Amino acid sequence: MIALQMLRKSSQTRSRKQLPRLFSTISQLSSQQSTPPSFGIAFDIDGVVLRGNTPIGGAPRALRRLYDDSGILKIPFIFLTNGGGVRESKRALELSELLGVEISPSQVVQGHSPFKQLVNRFENELIVAVGKGEPASVMSEYGFKNVIPIDEYALCFESIDPLAPYKKWNTMEAAVNSARKCSIKSERVQAAFIVSDSVDWSRDIQVLCDILRTGGLPGSGEGPQPPLYFAHDDFKYQGAFPSERFGMGAFRIALESIFNSIHSEALKYTSLGKPNPVAFKNAEVVLKLLVSTLYHDHAHSGSHDFRTLYMIGDNPFVDIKGSRQAGHPWFPILTRTGVFKGDCHSNHAEFPANLVVDTVEDAVNFIMRNESYEP
Ligand SMILES: [Mg+2]
Repeated sequence: MIALQMLRKSSQTRSRKQLPRLFSTISQLSSQQSTPPSFGIAFDIDGVVLRGNTPIGGAPRALRRLYDDSGILKIPFIFLTNGGGVRESKRALELSELLGVEISPSQVVQGHSPFKQLVNRFENELIVAVGKGEPASVMSEYGFKNVIPIDEYALCFESIDPLAPYKKWNTMEAAVNSARKCSIKSERVQAAFIVSDSVDWSRDIQVLCDILRTGGLPGSGEGPQPPLYFAHDDFKYQGAFPSERFGMGAFRIALESIFNSIHSEALKYTSLGKPNPVAFKNAEVVLKLLVSTLYHDHAHSGSHDFRTLYMIGDNPFVDIKGSRQAGHPWFPILTRTGVFKGDCHSNHAEFPANLVVDTVEDAVNFIMRNESYEP
């Protein structure tokens, strides 16, 4: 049901030209009555289906195998990525265009997607959202009503970032009006959310330390640390550059190291994305709801039992470690198109996958054979 609602919501952002096609897809999905497959698939994105914005490993061909000839989804699959910074609806549109198949927002689970579960706790509280893209829009769409991006928050405090005059990028000075500035300065920040990769480490570490050591009131005396949430803890990831790039886990180490050197109590934080088993539990719930939507089983919404859920990833420390820890029904498959670069006979020593393949297409071919699934 939720999946269908999200699907409908996303359609509001699509062009009018796309709407008839989308709604015919929904009605065809809803009228599909055959027995759902006893397996599902979770694809990592970076280093598995995309490198930067370029499809890799035969991903478009592999994904098309999961739809029937008329483009209707027949195998339940989601993208389970630690990446983010954009709304799930927007990411679904981007992925549809890049990969050439119809992907609904309900099939996109990002590192920050589980933040939704914290809405009850922080719905009306002042919270700060950090990261590239649109971190505050992401949180607003989840239902947080008093969220401010750190870019704007930093502008409320004169000289909070002494390096700002040396930074050549646009500071969005006009984005915050002076009345809002005054009220923000006296309002206590109740939590900080690292939604996506920090764009300006020096400023963000400075401002976060100010928030976290003062109980949420930069410039005041010490106070209890507000809760701090990270979308994930990836130390590195495979982007468009040949060697891996530092991710949110590296930023966390930098923040933690500095905070712990200025504060008597160690930094407290929670990371919710892969490899946290919570991310895999959540993925299983999302896949079950997807099956209910695809097979029109609203009476037993979310109750479908999977015999196997395949996780296809490129990072042994994230995708494989997490799905191993999550246990049944997860079956980890490691590709060689990203972080893992072992030879064709090797597996990862510390976190071995059930299967190692060259590409995502090899992984999907294996799954279809293993499940004896004929279209
Ligand atoms: Mg990856």
